[in-house]
Amino acid sequence: MLSPTEAFKTKECIFCKIVSGTLPSEKVYENDNVFAFRDISPQAPVHILIVPKKHITDVLDVSVSDSAVFQNLFQAAQQIAAKLGIAGSGFRTVFNSGDHACQTMYHLHLHLLGGTQMGGSLVG
Ligand code: AMP
Ligand code: ZN
Repeated sequence: MLSPTEAFKTKECIFCKIVSGTLPSEKVYENDNVFAFRDISPQAPVHILIVPKKHITDVLDVSVSDSAVFQNLFQAAQQIAAKLGIAGSGFRTVFNSGDHACQTMYHLHLHLLGGTQMGGSLVG
């Protein structure tokens, strides 16, 4: 049973709506705990967002009880990278948290970027 706060967040959250199928997405992977889809505004030839099905706001909102979810996020990254052919060439995985990191969607998401040679800077 969701708490009232959790229910409110879930009702308003675009990524919760994508997970539930209320909003469309280009799904690339799903298991019991996580859902992955193509970023609507890709910054690389491969740009996937991997999200927990449970609403978690950002890295600061993760708790020890979410360890299975985190395991699944990284398992999903491995499987998607292999499936989309970028496991060998390499890829970048990024969590943005808060204003300085330019987080815009407040449902935790792991960016998986690849398919091109990226620059060495992580902050530019
Ligand atoms: P961040 O800046 O880390 O919060 O990244 C949010 C990402 O979500 C951006 O790369 C957006 O392009 C992407 N995004 C926003 N809305 C959607 C959507 N409806 N479907 C797919 N990706 C989205
Ligand atoms: Zn959400």
